[in-house]
Amino acid sequence: MSGVSDSGITVSKLLQKGNQGLGTFVRMDGELLLLDGAVYQLQAEGKIRVADQDDEIPYAAATHFRSQRTVTVKLDTKDSIDAVLEEFNDHASNLFMSYRIEGVFQRLKCRTVKGQEYDGQPLSELGKKQFVAEYHDVEGTIVGFRSPVAWQGFFVAGEHMHFIDQERKIGGHVLELQAREVNVGIATVNNVHIELPTSDKFNSVVMSTDDAGLKSVEG
Ligand SMILES: [Zn+2]
Repeated sequence: MSGVSDSGITVSKLLQKGNQGLGTFVRMDGELLLLDGAVYQLQAEGKIRVADQDDEIPYAAATHFRSQRTVTVKLDTKDSIDAVLEEFNDHASNLFMSYRIEGVFQRLKCRTVKGQEYDGQPLSELGKKQFVAEYHDVEGTIVGFRSPVAWQGFFVAGEHMHFIDQERKIGGHVLELQAREVNVGIATVNNVHIELPTSDKFNSVVMSTDDAGLKSVEG
C-alpha cells in the first residue's frame, strides 16, 4: 500500500516456499499466481507470461497446499466462499485458511494492476487505473487465502483470490465470481512465517494499516 515495490525475493526462492500462492511483481506490474510449481505474471490487458526464475517479487503469500477436504459447491458471489470455509472449520476466524477452487465459472470479474508510473506510487492510486475484465463460462483455477482481520496489512483481511484459466491465457485478481458447480479444496493454516524486506526504502517509508484503502483496491 505504501508503494515500496522496487525489489524483493526471486521467483526461484518463492518456489521453495510453496506450490500455491499469490502476490505481485516489481513496480506492481500485474498480479502473481503460483500454481503447482509455476509462477505466472498476469499483466494488464490480459497478457500472461511464465515468470523468469530471477524476476523479483516485492510481495507474495505462498503455502505448501494440501487439501484437508474437498467439497463440490455452488458459489453465488465471492462472499459465498466464506460459508463454505465456515462449514469446514467454524472456529477459524483467527486462523488463516487456504483454498483452491477448480471448475467452470459462469461469471468472473478480474482485475490486473497496470504497474507503477513512478517510484513509490501507492497501490490506492494504481487501483484507479487498473485493468478490469469480465469473463463468462470460463474454466480454470482460483488460488485463495482467507486472512484474519487482525492481520490486515500483512495480508488482505478476508478473502484474497487470483484466477488463471485452463489454457493459461487469462487471469487476474478476482473481484466478483459466480459458479454453478465447482470443487473447493480447503486447508486451515496455523503456522505462518513472515519475511520482511531489509532495504533502506522499506525502512524509511511510513507504514500504516490503511483499512479503507485496502478494501477499495483489493475488493
Ligand atoms: Zn490480489
